[in-house]
Amino acid sequence: MPDALNSLDMVPVVDLGGRPLTPCSPEKAEQNLRDGLATMADGVLRLNYRPLAYRRIYRMVRDRDGLTCAWCHGVGSTLDHVLPICWGGRTALNNCVMACRACNHARNNALPSHFLQWTGFRPEHPVIRYVLEHEDELLVRAEQSLRQRPIATCLSKEEAQIWVACHHGQWADARPAPPAKPFSRFRPDQPFREVFVP
Ligand SMILES: [Zn+2]
Repeated sequence: MPDALNSLDMVPVVDLGGRPLTPCSPEKAEQNLRDGLATMADGVLRLNYRPLAYRRIYRMVRDRDGLTCAWCHGVGSTLDHVLPICWGGRTALNNCVMACRACNHARNNALPSHFLQWTGFRPEHPVIRYVLEHEDELLVRAEQSLRQRPIATCLSKEEAQIWVACHHGQWADARPAPPAKPFSRFRPDQPFREVFVP
């Protein structure tokens, strides 16, 4: 279906505070409802969580680190949460670094230890080193925190998805495990490392 036609069917979306967000397709709205991430009223999809704005912390991290990717040391212009938001990582100076788009997108919500296994990178950045050292306890803390707080405190779709899994007793499935044989997201037929070009 052409985009112009599609856009006629877009569903208005608001966040937890009623602020308008980018409209989404009916399919996406349905998926959100099915996953328990949103409610629908008067044709408006209302998210049960609140996506976060990053502008202020982005400037602070960029001023601290410059435009260098903390993972591959290439040119990095995006803000990367070392411990992903969905695993309790916060948008704070002690959890954020600059990353190039390739590293940021390829890692997605993978844990730093898994990403390093795939890429073979050896980052020196103190924030990455700290998170790596404490990854296990940070995950346990994330689980305890998710159990205690309402979905309304989740800051991203992925975190809200893990919240739902956690509260349905499916924590084991939600918890990240290193893939036995990691493959590229872009070339599913090839191992990640061979095709990863930052
Ligand atoms: Zn990079």
